[in-house]
Amino acid sequence: MKSMSMKHEKTQSGTLVNEPASYPGYSSCADDDCLNDIGRDDQETISEMSGAVYNLLEGIGENPEREGLLKTPERVAKSLRFLTKGYREDPGDMLRKAVFTESYDEMVLVKDIDMFSMCEHHMLPFFGKAHVAYIPDGKIVGLSKLARVVDVFARRLQVQERLTQQIRDIIQDVLNPRGVGVVIEAQHMCMVMRGVEKQNSITTTSAMSGDFLSQPTRNEFLRLLNR
Ligand SMILES: [Zn+2]
Repeated sequence: MKSMSMKHEKTQSGTLVNEPASYPGYSSCADDDCLNDIGRDDQETISEMSGAVYNLLEGIGENPEREGLLKTPERVAKSLRFLTKGYREDPGDMLRKAVFTESYDEMVLVKDIDMFSMCEHHMLPFFGKAHVAYIPDGKIVGLSKLARVVDVFARRLQVQERLTQQIRDIIQDVLNPRGVGVVIEAQHMCMVMRGVEKQNSITTTSAMSGDFLSQPTRNEFLRLLNR
């Protein structure tokens, strides 16, 4: 697994900016290695889901018995379980385990967190970058956990608007900081592949709380994102 490298940079106003150069939460599915996190309890679910995928293959006019497709139902079932593993993770619990007392009280920003999710309307991918910021009020959280929180909520069927708000709300609830700001920029395959919108359209959503609702803080956040 790749390690997460961070560029630490302190701006003049004291803001801590962290940019993960790469994020280990995503692994290529070119082979089946990424599908081996299935527990014994899941075997029954996997076999039921495989049956459904078999029917899907027939429905699109394929022959599920031909050589290339023999293992496809199980692969699809396992990959769907992987891509939705956020349902079986507790983001609040994960954050609470990495909270520290600290007097730092300027903005903390983790930029360009790779984000992969699936839209709940078509079960097609949408993916892009998440930017997460907060202003501590006596408590800080391990920086990598901010990226992990994005991952937990993204690995569920989502709409981008709700995903953005859920990330804001869990950080606000657990850390009780002076404010949280979240911006997500993503491309939706259900728009790109189906030709509904221009091929390169990017959807941007934001969710703010506390101090980020005030114009100066909001502006500093967006300026740090170079928007
Ligand atoms: Zn969609």
